[in-house]
Amino acid sequence: MVYDAIIIGAGHNGLTCAGYLAQKGKSVLVLERRDVVGGAALTSEFSPGFKNSEFSYVVSLLDPSVIKDLELAKYGLQIKQRDGASMTFGSHGCLWLPSKLEKSYEQIARHSKKDADNYLKLDEILEGVCKIFRPLARNAPFDVGASLFSQIGNAVNTGWILGNAEPEMRTHVAELITKSVGNYLDQWFETDILKGTLAYSGSVGNFVSPNHPSTAYVLLHHVFGQVNGKTGAWGHAHGGMGSITQALAKSAQASGVTIKTDAEVAGALLNENKIDGVRLATGEEYRSKVVIANCHPNILFGNIIKYDELPEDFCRRIKGYRSESGSFRINLALSDLPKFPQLKAFDVSSEILLNGSNNIAPSIPYIEKAYQDALEFGWSKEPVIEFCIPSLIDDSLAPTGAHVMSLFCQHFRRYLPNSMSWADEKDRAADLIIDTVEKYSPGFQKLIVGKQINSPLDIEEKLNMVGGDIFHGALHLDQLYSMRPVAGAGNYRMPISGLYLGGSGAHPGGGVSGLPGKNCANAVLQDM
Ligand SMILES: Cc1cc2nc3c(=O)[nH]c(=O)nc-3n(C[C@H](O)[C@H](O)[C@H](O)COP(=O)(O)OP(=O)(O)OC[C@H]3O[C@@H](n4cnc5c(N)ncnc54)[C@H](O)[C@@H]3O)c2cc1C
Repeated sequence: MVYDAIIIGAGHNGLTCAGYLAQKGKSVLVLERRDVVGGAALTSEFSPGFKNSEFSYVVSLLDPSVIKDLELAKYGLQIKQRDGASMTFGSHGCLWLPSKLEKSYEQIARHSKKDADNYLKLDEILEGVCKIFRPLARNAPFDVGASLFSQIGNAVNTGWILGNAEPEMRTHVAELITKSVGNYLDQWFETDILKGTLAYSGSVGNFVSPNHPSTAYVLLHHVFGQVNGKTGAWGHAHGGMGSITQALAKSAQASGVTIKTDAEVAGALLNENKIDGVRLATGEEYRSKVVIANCHPNILFGNIIKYDELPEDFCRRIKGYRSESGSFRINLALSDLPKFPQLKAFDVSSEILLNGSNNIAPSIPYIEKAYQDALEFGWSKEPVIEFCIPSLIDDSLAPTGAHVMSLFCQHFRRYLPNSMSWADEKDRAADLIIDTVEKYSPGFQKLIVGKQINSPLDIEEKLNMVGGDIFHGALHLDQLYSMRPVAGAGNYRMPISGLYLGGSGAHPGGGVSGLPGKNCANAVLQDM
């Protein structure tokens, strides 16, 4: 049989792409190398009676159109918004930002009235900038390497979105995509712990200094989503992130998609400059009119398709694609809710105070030091940590009274110095992270009854995420929009006829948004 489309990888983008193509009557085969679907959006039982999202753990970016078009609610998806946006712990106290803006204002004003006023202004600006970014994210970028005629539609669309924006808002866009998150926040605020809280979002999956140009974009990337219509809010998928990909898989299968697991694609069937199908590691061959890669660009190119089968300029650029996010991920099973003495300062229950993102990133210099230490030693003795306790709003994850904690830590190098290896070091790094939380929560370690640790090497090996990069490649200005993954291949069409990229290595990049998969399906349908 010759399928209309073969998709390499059953991550959430591969499944999204499959669902859209099948809804248009295309025959689709999805091939996944692991024994489960979901890629980085996966729930696993990591300790008896305790389950949690293994990799990605909070949801905001998932586009409402994907939820609606693929009927994900019908297939079991429920997303719950959290009450707390964030709680940041520091040695001189903590900062709570509740979801309601006026309540955050009150909390910031305890530190600085000027910062509280500016926070309201910045919130309005980010809301306005997101209104420009969302349509840009939902549409294919123009391809700088294609003929002007073929790109008129995309170029006009981009010009229309930017042209229609308030001129003042365009200046904010220009700042946010070019400035460092450190410089940007220094312009607005004087309170270190507030700047640390916001700069954390610019450091997630972004292994560079917070003073590096264009890191403010990563802050924006983390606020342009929404939960149940609320901009910038984050929530939990009931049952963990795997419930998103389970719903996507069920939706795709209901539209006729075939999904095969334990099916690693190892080669491409090329005929001159056209792709006719793929070959599995087992030698089986499958044929199709088009092939869509949901896997990392450097797995598609260099591994599945050899470099000498690529045009010279493209080959040089894709070899230079940067991919290392410096992320370390732990799940803990806890016998009880940990106690944080600093929370006594609030007249609110710990269950509410802790149900958002809890950070140990109390200032921009703290984040900068973690980055500099990582360059020298592999990771810092004072690591950047975010932890969430999803069992506070989802009782399906842990036995009654017990909890699960997701810890997501930044600036842990994929490649360690001095011949150190993650196989030897990962328990030591995990212990340091746990000790750091213990400083703010005496007795924390005694509550731990189970662990799941994913070092950058584990992330790379389990998910084929090159360099352990959680976004399939750095979200820097030179790897965004028309330049993602590289100049000349920025609108899902790769330089081999019939070959497309529809994973996080394509516009608009990483995060559980479904947009690379959806936009790629649109490109395929236009061409078919
Ligand atoms: C630790 C971690 C934490 C994160 N936290 C968040 C978060 O909280 N919120 C958020 O929005 N985003 C988060 N992210 C980012 C987000 O999860 C990813 O950007 C996104 O899930 C990637 O989706 P994808 O479908 O593009 O690719 P993937 O999920 O990587 O899926 C690609 C699939 O392709 C398969 N594959 C690879 N090679 C082959 C091959 N040769 N043959 C067949 N199959 C192959 C892989 O096994 C995988 O299933 C996180 C990521 C990680 C790793």
